[in-house]
Amino acid sequence: MNRAGDPTELATGTLMLTDRLRRPLRDLRVSVIETCNYRCPYCMPAERTPEWTESDHASSADRLSFGEIEALVRSFVRLGVSKVRLTGGEPLLRRGLPDLIARLAAIEGIEDLALTSNGSLLARQARALADAGLHRLTVSLDTLDPQRFADLSGGRGRLDDVLAGIAAAEQAGFAAIKINCVVQRGVNDGDVLPLLEHFRGTAHVVRFIEYMDVGTCNRWQRAQVVPSAQLRDTIHQRWPLRALQPNYRGEVAARYAYADGAGEVGFVSSVSEPFCGDCQRARLAADGRLYTCLFASTGTPLRPFINEGDAALAQRIAHLWGRRGDRYSELRGDAPEAGKRIEMFMVGG
Ligand code: SAM
Ligand code: SF4
Ligand code: SF4
Repeated sequence: MNRAGDPTELATGTLMLTDRLRRPLRDLRVSVIETCNYRCPYCMPAERTPEWTESDHASSADRLSFGEIEALVRSFVRLGVSKVRLTGGEPLLRRGLPDLIARLAAIEGIEDLALTSNGSLLARQARALADAGLHRLTVSLDTLDPQRFADLSGGRGRLDDVLAGIAAAEQAGFAAIKINCVVQRGVNDGDVLPLLEHFRGTAHVVRFIEYMDVGTCNRWQRAQVVPSAQLRDTIHQRWPLRALQPNYRGEVAARYAYADGAGEVGFVSSVSEPFCGDCQRARLAADGRLYTCLFASTGTPLRPFINEGDAALAQRIAHLWGRRGDRYSELRGDAPEAGKRIEMFMVGG
């Protein structure tokens, strides 16, 4: 069993922190804002979530400051985290985000600093994100059909803005962007091939994500899920694919290459092929609560302990990770969290 409670020894690299299922802590998602300018029906349906207003821009008292985020991330890095992804809500709504990126990019031990965005505000921010030291970018894009795009953003988004955002990101030096597409049966499953056609031949990687039962406000039903295996067959008939090895242990997306060399496609299959056994990811909500699973019903507030200093904070986090036994996707309907679960826009995917 690990020695989860001793960050001093952990920091020396002689011991490895693992949870109850022997999974290390390598990967941290940080939500910088709990709201969004879109209302995607699968995440934040307009009729069941509060309206976003300009006043949400103001730094909410409940939101961690950049200094607090930096201190927390430093403690996670002490415990073995080397990959950090900023998310939301919509992270580009958070004022001054490049300042936070610059602070995090300076932390020794972070090998991968990435951000996931809906792309709506990217055109005007891409350069500042790159200059601040962001390594990688993921943009969510579910369809290239302008009307369906508008519908899937809850009537708030414009396809052209996202395409302009991707173009600006390319200009700013983001050479290989991940394009996330959540596939829903009968909604955008017919948009999969056109999306691939658009990005084939570039370094960008389209990743198809099975629609998940995150939170409760989307009223998910299994019949809405298109299993990745089915999608892979459809794509393979048009453009033959071959499987690739994962880049690293715990990689969430299964990787495939076009046999003709036109690039790569990914599949995130957490409903049909759960990957809890390799899940090395913690999630920090914008209010400072730690969630050890995307489907957790409760989080642990870390904010009150930030002033104790990095080592003590790391010790608390190590203790929480050491107790972790989450494996919701493997249990699904039988999981204890099956009733009440944190919403996706609070923990950012
Ligand atoms: N607002 C940003 C965006 O949309 O990229 C970042 C936060 S969003 C919650 C992160 C990712 O979660 C997006 O790629 C989104 O498509 C995905 N997502 C949201 N709800 C989902 C669901 N129910 N099932 C699968 N993926 C979902
Ligand atoms: Fe906003 Fe992203 Fe959720 Fe859509 S998926 S509502 S863009 S947070
Ligand atoms: Fe990780 Fe929880 Fe998803 Fe399983 S269900 S892969 S433990 S976040």
